[in-house]
Amino acid sequence: MKEDGLTGADERDYLLAVYAQTPIEPVRGEGVMLHTRDGRVLLDLYAGHAVALLGYGHPRLLAALREQAESLFFQSNVVPLGVRARAGRRLVRFAPAGLDRAFLVNSGAEANENALRLALRHTGRRQVVAVEGAFHGRTAAAAAVSDKSAAWYSFPQAPFDVRFVPRADLDALAAALDSAPTAALILEPVQGMAGAVALGRDYLEGARALTRTRGALLIFDEVQCGMGRTGYPFAAQAYGVTPDIMTTAKGLAGGFPAGAVLVGEAIAARLRPGDLGSTFGGGPLACALIEAVITAIEEQDLLPRVRALSRRIRETCQVGPVAAIQGEGLLLGLRTTRPAQEVQAELLARGIVVGTSADPRIVRLLPPLVIEETHVESLAGALREIRA
Ligand code: PLP
Repeated sequence: MKEDGLTGADERDYLLAVYAQTPIEPVRGEGVMLHTRDGRVLLDLYAGHAVALLGYGHPRLLAALREQAESLFFQSNVVPLGVRARAGRRLVRFAPAGLDRAFLVNSGAEANENALRLALRHTGRRQVVAVEGAFHGRTAAAAAVSDKSAAWYSFPQAPFDVRFVPRADLDALAAALDSAPTAALILEPVQGMAGAVALGRDYLEGARALTRTRGALLIFDEVQCGMGRTGYPFAAQAYGVTPDIMTTAKGLAGGFPAGAVLVGEAIAARLRPGDLGSTFGGGPLACALIEAVITAIEEQDLLPRVRALSRRIRETCQVGPVAAIQGEGLLLGLRTTRPAQEVQAELLARGIVVGTSADPRIVRLLPPLVIEETHVESLAGALREIRA
């Protein structure tokens, strides 16, 4: 495309200054490498908040996008589409058994907004329980169940009653569920924004049992930890715990906006035309990419590789300023002895892009699932050079 003289730095003249940005301007991506305007080549271990699930320029994704764009660029849910049926089938077969129906949307927040709507409607109750440290998005309902959102919530009231519970405390969860008729417990099996905090199998199994006995629905927000990131299709399969509702987004279409809400037959059977809706949700380009992403994960046998590389990171990257490593699969938090932002800047100076989190001592890794052992070696080597 022809340059018109503007660079990323000119964003600030036209766009709201609401993001703290990393000081690089990628102009091209290839595999897991980003090429910047000033000629640097960076190893991307953050993937644009986990979205570039298969890295950059993946041939299957490019072919799917091109083919779909040339044949039918857009039609809404007002008409049925074969490509939507194919994406839906791939997705529900990738998801845990029992979550057999999908509603397609455009983002994580939109997925959670609809998941909460469904839970409140299905149960006729008005309280939702959420977990401390959670982040579920910035729309009215999703933000109401995001921890410490008061600082930026900006709506005069939440759309339902919300109660937060501490992590890892099933007694507190039971008490919260009993405090008022509860429509749902919403949680991230591995909390992303909190710094890759895995809630753990025991907690998830306990939460499953407690919600079931109280008639509350269990919602897994797998916007960040889903789509292969834990080394399993979804964290639900990694832990062997199936929720009543599951949401996903981010890497779902490998970089094209897409989100999904998955439910079982009991919830699906009570829905009628008009109950939910989204103009762009389930558009043909997003659907072609959802199909291509899941096909690529399976064809390239990426899930065992995610698990192996995760182990490798744990074995080799607890060096330099890294005191401990937490999380699952390729959603990892490096606990640092120094402020995470300093470590992030030093890694960037050595050509590696990583993220931070709500925890000032956690560097977050969300690399494309296609990273290789050599990339882990580069990370370990760079960390070794950084002062503890
Ligand atoms: N849920 C989780 C776990 C997330 O990490 C995020 C985004 O970071 C969201 C929901 C919101 O997703 P989106 O930004 O696509 O609305």
